Amino acid sequence: MSATLIDGRAIARAVREEVAREVAAFTAQTGIVPGLATVLVGDDPASAVYVANKRRACVEAGMRDLHRHLPADAPEAEVVALIEQLNADPAVSGILLQLPVPAPLDGARLTGLIDPDKDVDGLTPMSVGRLVRGTPGLRPCTPAGVIELLDRSGVALEGAEAVVVGRSDLVGKPLLHLLLARNATVTACHSRTRDLAAVARRADVLVAAVGVPRLIGADAVKPGATVIDVGINRTDDGLVGDVDFDAVRAVAGKITPVPGGVGPMTIAMLLRNTLEAARLQHGRAAGRDPAGR
Ligand code: NAD
Repeated sequence: MSATLIDGRAIARAVREEVAREVAAFTAQTGIVPGLATVLVGDDPASAVYVANKRRACVEAGMRDLHRHLPADAPEAEVVALIEQLNADPAVSGILLQLPVPAPLDGARLTGLIDPDKDVDGLTPMSVGRLVRGTPGLRPCTPAGVIELLDRSGVALEGAEAVVVGRSDLVGKPLLHLLLARNATVTACHSRTRDLAAVARRADVLVAAVGVPRLIGADAVKPGATVIDVGINRTDDGLVGDVDFDAVRAVAGKITPVPGGVGPMTIAMLLRNTLEAARLQHGRAAGRDPAGR
């Protein structure tokens, strides 16, 4: 039997359409047009493409594109001043500092300066704290996209055995907390895990976020399990995931392809976060405190 494909492109499109409708309703109600300030430092071609895609999606969803570009040799003080200016600007709902930033700039330090209520990447220490505590806040886009894929594919998380392979700050760790918040029984695997396949085989929901082409074989998958492949690896055979798709497809119940699985969800969730950020700030301006401080 062959696993059902989870179509990330179709699900991402549905999320983007929903966000666009909600943006229109929010604007009609409040007079506020949510705005996303992408910040690109330097001219790395891959980063430039990612930022251009985010900007286009933002406009398509009815939000303002408030992009800012600094030269690769911008001194740290200039980047800091820009972030502070964007933090203070009521037209800016969300701020996204495109990573990596050129050396000697420190991307983690600079990201940490973003107002947590505008932190649409969900990467500031305050956003991480809110995630771990389970209080309202902005969640990292790719892990949030994984949860959205699972929800919209009818995969039950409550009480399920969830195994996440990879423990990066960007994907693995936030995903562990999102799954925990949904009452899954969560196991973290990483480069030092003994007998990865044996642990992974416990999973009802198995997520690979590693960056090693086809690491997860059929022997690591329980029959009928849902397998989400976050990996994007450029190989001589083109783009492949962390899951050996052809082999695992024969064992799994549901599976995401690469490309066309998790990838398209990241921008969709960025748009959702930008709208959420606009709502957080609107609540803050109205004296409510949805973040619970
Ligand atoms: P990372 O390099 O920061 O982290 C990789 C993790 O995998 C580490 O925690 C490490 O412990 C673990 N690991 C490495 N080798 C392992 C092994 N042999 N067995 C078990 N665990 C091992 O990577 P990342 O930023 O989390 O990204 C992971 C993958 O996801 C990459 O392929 C990346 O391109 C992709 N990615 C995709 C999206 C998207 O939008 N779809 C977003 C972010 C990352």
